[in-house]
This record gives sequence, C-alpha cells and structure tokens, in this order.
Amino acid sequence: MRVVFVGPPGSGKGTQAKVLCERFSIPQVSTGDMLRAAKAEGRLPADIIQAMASGGLVPDELVVKLIEQRTAEPDAKAGFLLDGFPRTVPQAESLGAMLAAQGSVLDAVIALEVPEKLLLERAIHRRTDKRTGQIYHLQYKPPPPGADLEHRHDDHEDVVRKRLATYLALTANLLPYYEKAGLLTRVNGVGEVSEVTDRCLAALSLEDKRGAHHG
Ligand code: AMP
Repeated sequence: MRVVFVGPPGSGKGTQAKVLCERFSIPQVSTGDMLRAAKAEGRLPADIIQAMASGGLVPDELVVKLIEQRTAEPDAKAGFLLDGFPRTVPQAESLGAMLAAQGSVLDAVIALEVPEKLLLERAIHRRTDKRTGQIYHLQYKPPPPGADLEHRHDDHEDVVRKRLATYLALTANLLPYYEKAGLLTRVNGVGEVSEVTDRCLAALSLEDKRGAHHG
C-alpha cells in the first residue's frame, strides 16, 4: 500500500499516520521528521534551518531526494505512508515519476480536513515526548508525569499562522491535482482519534474496491 497523507499543520496527520502504519505494518515516511533529524545531527545548512523555523518550505529537490532514499530501503518495499510529502504539485510530479520508474503507483491520497480555528488551537497545545515521539495535547490528551516534552518552535502561534498560510497557498493546489487523478478522499479530521482512524480506514478500503473494480 502506497498512501499519501495531506493535511494542514495540526490536522492530526502525524497521529493518524502512526496508527495506520502500525495497522498495515508499513513505515511512516515524514519529511518533517527526517529534516528535524538531519538538523539534530548538524547535517542541515543554515538557510534550510531558517526556512523551517520561519514556517516556509524547503526546496523541492531536497525533499524529493530524501523520499527517494527512504523509499528505496527494504522496509518500504511492501509500501509506505508519506506524511508531509508531497506538499507541492512539482513534488507530486516527482513522486509520480519516481514510482513509475519503479513500476508502481500511488494507491490513495487522504486529505484530512479540520477547520482553521481548531488547527491553531491544536498546534499551540501540542507537545511531543522527545524520547518516544508520542504526541500529546495539553488539555485533551495530557502527557503522563515524567514525559520529556518538547513544544516545537514552529508550533508557536505566529509560526503556525505562517505554516497555515504556506499550506493554503501551495498545498491547496495539490488537492485538485490528486482529485483529477481519482486518488483523493477527503476525510473529516474532527473528533476522537479513533473516529478519525475509522474514517481513514473506510477511505482506504473504498480505494481498494475502486482499484479492484477498475482491474
Ligand atoms: P512538518 O513536520 O511536516 O510540518 O514539516 C516541518 C517543516 O519541514 C515544514 O514547515 C517545512 O519547512 C519543512 N518540510 C517538511 N516537508 C516538506 C516538503 N514536502 N516540502 C517542503 N518543505 C517541507
């Protein structure tokens, strides 16, 4: 299964991606996580760090390369879930070309939809446990005592607003692109984590059937 997850910051994309990847035993491939790891290891140039810190995008070539390398690893043979990539139409075109070269295709694109007001609220209250990667919400999913919490710099309100604007300006073009390709399912991202997971699973099985009907 090769799935793309699209959604604005705070839409629950990362949380849902984790659940679905466990369910299907496929790796979650997150360009944001890979970039943060590269930064932590001191492998990221200053201009890239700056682009991330300000809520802008990093160059297409860089993320395409990261995806090419990561999806070539053995654990991604049976499939993968892309979280945070592609974000632009050129990235989507590169992904399509890369898959075609491997003789495979994308199975589904899920767009998580959440109203803007809720997105801001979620990002501002989001905390990640640095040790486990587990995501918490200070009010609705409080972290346990002793968690080693991090509030991502780019989850502060001013940067979140910028990331949202970036998302709307660039990524919004992606949805019509995948809609035309017949791959897109819009999923309501409001509700309990398990409810949203069920909607994603339903969307994926619909995609399966659609694929089967079309041979
Ligand atoms: P994320 O964790 O997905 O929100 O990504 C964090 C930051 O990494 C983004 O705000 C961008 O600066 C950068 N980034 C991640 N994925 C991409 C991508 N596909 N294209 C361009 N920039 C990206």
